[in-house]
Amino acid sequence: MRRLFIGLVVVIGIAAAVGYAFRGQIALALMQSVVEKNMANNAINELPDGLHVGLCGSGAPMPGERGGPCVIVIAGKRLIIIDSGTGGVRTLARMGFGPGSIERVLLTHFHSDHIDGLGEMMLQRWVGGTHTTPLPIHGPEGVDRIVAGFNEAYALDQGYRIAHHGADVLPPSGFGGTASPFALVDGEATVIDDGGLKITAFKVDHTPIEPAVGYRISYKGRTAVISGDTKAIPMVEKQAEGVDLLVHEALSPELVNMLGAAAKKAGRDNLAKIMHDILDYHTTPEEAAAIAARAKVKFLLFYHIVPPLPLSALEVPFLGKSREIYSGPLAVGRDGDFVSMPAGSTEVAISNRL
Ligand SMILES: [Zn+2]
Ligand SMILES: [Zn+2]
Repeated sequence: MRRLFIGLVVVIGIAAAVGYAFRGQIALALMQSVVEKNMANNAINELPDGLHVGLCGSGAPMPGERGGPCVIVIAGKRLIIIDSGTGGVRTLARMGFGPGSIERVLLTHFHSDHIDGLGEMMLQRWVGGTHTTPLPIHGPEGVDRIVAGFNEAYALDQGYRIAHHGADVLPPSGFGGTASPFALVDGEATVIDDGGLKITAFKVDHTPIEPAVGYRISYKGRTAVISGDTKAIPMVEKQAEGVDLLVHEALSPELVNMLGAAAKKAGRDNLAKIMHDILDYHTTPEEAAAIAARAKVKFLLFYHIVPPLPLSALEVPFLGKSREIYSGPLAVGRDGDFVSMPAGSTEVAISNRL
């Protein structure tokens, strides 16, 4: 028995040594199979018909493991992005969705964290899809200035890439974005209403940022609301009445105050002032939970997490009494989170695609 054991250890040891010696070749073979699969597949085709909402970025401006705010909306085979924060398009691709498939982008407002990945998203969509028309970018008044600015910032790069790869591969007419501003009437605007997909923008309160909107999405009987940046307001509750999914921003005053106190102690008064100021135009997790409870939403997903939570145990103080206030399922969003709501069912299933 003992000899058998020793023999087994020797065999495993040799196998490990051989594996180690050939680790480069093994990694190459693995890489080949993964890239072949990724090039051939569009993950959208593997999804059931229905509404799917994912987080290509679950954070806010502060550095941390979460990317900037970025929400994926897949309705049937259509891919729409709401906000384009830092790293969003890269996370989108890592989740299995090619940037070339992006149909359009909707912006909630023009704070830097919501637009700072837009240039890269426009470029990756162009390079990834041989498009002949620019990426439509919808938003409230001011979106034309944002899009014109990014188009100009990337104009030299456009020239480089066409010169290098040719206009057949990268049609010049597909470069950049086209702004599509909408005006709110009585606090609402229909942004998309075709092919069974309806997306409406609604006014939120992110004062002094004006305008700022959230979005309500419905497709084949499945519904979701994305709050955008806002303090807790009745409008979100009204829009979220009975929806399958509420994706709500959240800021923990307790943790932000801790950062503010540390900034003050370190003599960084400007940062302490910013920590104090941001308290008044966001929603606490408990306030969002109360909205979800009153609106009877089926799933609550927090995003735009402020401050960053470097330890998952920090979700406990972050949430406070949220789980008592809202008895339904909830999650503190992470990059890659993906909520599937198949058509013709009441299922709301969360997974993570990273
Ligand atoms: Zn923000
Ligand atoms: Zn904001």
